[in-house]
Amino acid sequence: MIDRRKEIGHPVQCGELLPDVKEIDSIFPATAQLNELFDVEPSLIAGRNSTVKIVSPGGRGYMLDFASYSLDRRKFDKHLVKLAEEAGARLCNDVSLLSVKDGIARTSIGDIKAKVVVGADGPNSLTAREAGLDRPRLRYPAITGRAEGQFDDCVEMFFGSVAPGGYAWIIPKDTGANVGLGFSRKSCRERPSEAFERFKKMIGARTSSTSLGFVPMSGPVKSTVAENIVLVGDAAGQAMPSNGGGIPTAMIAGREAGRVIRGYLAKDCKLTDYERRWRSLIGEPLKNSLRTRRLADVFFPSNVLLGLTMAILGTRGLDRAIRCRPLFL
Ligand SMILES: Cc1cc2nc3c(=O)[nH]c(=O)nc-3n(C[C@H](O)[C@H](O)[C@H](O)COP(=O)(O)OP(=O)(O)OC[C@H]3O[C@@H](n4cnc5c(N)ncnc54)[C@H](O)[C@@H]3O)c2cc1C
Repeated sequence: MIDRRKEIGHPVQCGELLPDVKEIDSIFPATAQLNELFDVEPSLIAGRNSTVKIVSPGGRGYMLDFASYSLDRRKFDKHLVKLAEEAGARLCNDVSLLSVKDGIARTSIGDIKAKVVVGADGPNSLTAREAGLDRPRLRYPAITGRAEGQFDDCVEMFFGSVAPGGYAWIIPKDTGANVGLGFSRKSCRERPSEAFERFKKMIGARTSSTSLGFVPMSGPVKSTVAENIVLVGDAAGQAMPSNGGGIPTAMIAGREAGRVIRGYLAKDCKLTDYERRWRSLIGEPLKNSLRTRRLADVFFPSNVLLGLTMAILGTRGLDRAIRCRPLFL
């Protein structure tokens, strides 16, 4: 594995919310053996929450039961590397991919010849570009920071002009909270840092460090395999477009990629099987999630319309939305 970061997991470009494994199971019912994948040890957990409060533009709160962890993502990513290393992988950090040609990855420390190249290099994936594969069409800027102080013990998501086309969040930890927001460039020309300052003023929070990233919001790309290259996670657009969450999906698809590659190297299956297999596990909820985001786009431009739509959906409809289910049965 190569990664251009000097330190894995840092800076944290994430809200650090990981749904409890039971919630992941209910969102992605076609998946199996989730316990082994999401067996998060206590040292990686910075807080637990059992509810989500969705706040409409007018300030009305809808309380949903939804169990989640606030991860310590800086430690969590290092933990995943440790698991990979224990299984025989090797990581070279501070190394950049420069191009991929004929199965050879050109990197800042020289060429690496690979039987299979896995592009898990995020929403601006160079691997995808080099393979001639599409990259996620919509990438929303999202900014996050660590706030000190005491917060209510539920996850809060704020909708409306506070984060046009997206939402702002407070994800409490045992001490402090991860606060941030992501929005659509189509709906807002403001700089993410300006929108973030406004939000922090609104909730009375001060952050010690902030970082900016991009969330793929257009759903999975058309094709995630080309020759000996496979795409995983944000590079494949596997984040949930209605809420931007991408940790569970990247891990589920990543494990499936590993299984297919093992089979492919043993000549038991084709690399293209990955395409069918990850879609059969998480494809349907991601489609529902994309439909919800597209529908929301219609109402997002108006605080009044958005508030009205949220009132019509009510707690049950909003619960379906965050669980990537069809909004209307
Ligand atoms: C602000 C923000 C908040 C978020 N909040 C949440 C949340 O609360 N919960 C959730 O589930 N999801 C959240 N997400 C989404 C989540 O972070 C991603 O879906 C998840 O990290 C996907 O992992 P990934 O491995 O595909 O990509 P990434 O985590 O982006 O990892 C890509 C890696 O590739 C490396 N890389 C990229 N290009 C190169 C190159 N050319 N050479 C070498 N290395 C390279 C990068 O250094 C990076 O380490 C959030 C995203 C953002 C931006």
